[in-house]
Amino acid sequence: AADALRAARAYADPNVFLHIDDDLTLAQARAADQALAAGAAGPLTGIPVAHKDLFVTRGWRTTAASRMLAGYVSPFDAAVVERWREAGAVSLGKLSCDEFAMGSGNENSAFGPVRNPWDPERVPGGSSGGSAAAVAAGLVLGATGTDTGGSVRQPAALCGVSGIKPTYGTVSRYGIIAYASSLDQAGPLARSARDLVPLLDAMSGFDPRDSTSLESCDGAPNAAGRVQAAFDAAQAGFQAGGERPLAGLRIGVPREFLNEGLSAEVGAAVEAALRVFESLGAVRVDVSLPRTRLSIPAYYVIAPAEASSNLSRYDGVRYGHRAAVYADLADMTSRSRSEGFGDEVRRRILVGAYVLSHGYYDAYYLQAQRVRRMIADDFRRVLTEDCDVIMGPVTPAVARRIGDNRQDPIADWLGDIYTLGVSLAGLPGMSIPCGFGGESGRLPIGLQLIGRYFDEGRLLALADRYQ
Ligand code: GLN
Repeated sequence: AADALRAARAYADPNVFLHIDDDLTLAQARAADQALAAGAAGPLTGIPVAHKDLFVTRGWRTTAASRMLAGYVSPFDAAVVERWREAGAVSLGKLSCDEFAMGSGNENSAFGPVRNPWDPERVPGGSSGGSAAAVAAGLVLGATGTDTGGSVRQPAALCGVSGIKPTYGTVSRYGIIAYASSLDQAGPLARSARDLVPLLDAMSGFDPRDSTSLESCDGAPNAAGRVQAAFDAAQAGFQAGGERPLAGLRIGVPREFLNEGLSAEVGAAVEAALRVFESLGAVRVDVSLPRTRLSIPAYYVIAPAEASSNLSRYDGVRYGHRAAVYADLADMTSRSRSEGFGDEVRRRILVGAYVLSHGYYDAYYLQAQRVRRMIADDFRRVLTEDCDVIMGPVTPAVARRIGDNRQDPIADWLGDIYTLGVSLAGLPGMSIPCGFGGESGRLPIGLQLIGRYFDEGRLLALADRYQ
């Protein structure tokens, strides 16, 4: 643990970690040693991990990468933090992200951008950019992320690591700083699918403290062990297939995911990965998700609407930043919010307040909810009638340069096209590395795997076959 802390502190990019606390880490390491000595090791005993700064932690500061929460220390731990610790993991601290998880490049952190370990001029993706960078740089074996519209899958893809966003409701949101509650879901990032299995398994499970937490999944209780058991069962099934372990598996490739917006190199890497799956016996089928393009406007109405409500709690009274100089109560709130929130967060709050306002609610918010339902129905139809799993790209292109989209925030929104639908539908989706591109030929490319509800174990087993 001391070595891991030293390496984290000495790492070339000081922005990856927002908070490291030696004493807390070493105390967990001592507990892990004791558990090992007593023969009572858990599934994650001694594994070095770290948490996205959106998960509240007792002891470590939690900021959501916002000036608004600078210096904030939570009186309790998020459920996910608690569960990983109970499973034996040793957390090194808190990882950078986009402010309140709003962004796709980790440039919206109030504490400076994170650099992509494969090329320091480029973004690591976002919003869980610190998590992906820490895993890619080998500073931790696992990291927590949250995915509201792609924030686990997209940074995993751009940093060449693996990450999974499980079915909405399978991991507790208790203690995750809320962005868009109907979409927010935690998931792990790690080197490989095989490493993700115990990490996801340990964080999953019903939690009465989260009102949208699921008690059961397809008749089976949503409890620890579920993901591991499903992974093992899928593995056993593949093994029985011998030379053609995936015989009979139908992989749906949505034609809308291979459209003109996709860069040639990402398209080629995805095609090559699909051929590997075909060589293992799977059959590729052409499917259609006709409302893919609509996922962008639907998401960027619904997520800001929920954000504007969730972020109303930062009023300068109850939490975080309070302006030093103000005329009256209203002025204090308004100054505190102007000073505390960055540009992207303010943009989202304004959009959200607008689409929820009287006279616009039906035209924007309600319409977006209808589109969301249709997108979910499209996925359901394709995953029941046409195929067993969907595969495609995670991002249209490899990681862009830091600063490239500064003048054009909408450009990043458009880059979320392949991940948003999965979030709107609440389905499990993951990203695994499938190649490299860019001028240097050293920028990672991700393959997206999308499953049916509660299909995490099988998705992970499929990814493991490829890896
Ligand atoms: N890029 C998307 C956004 O900015 C997704 C972020 C996320 O999943 N947290 O909203």
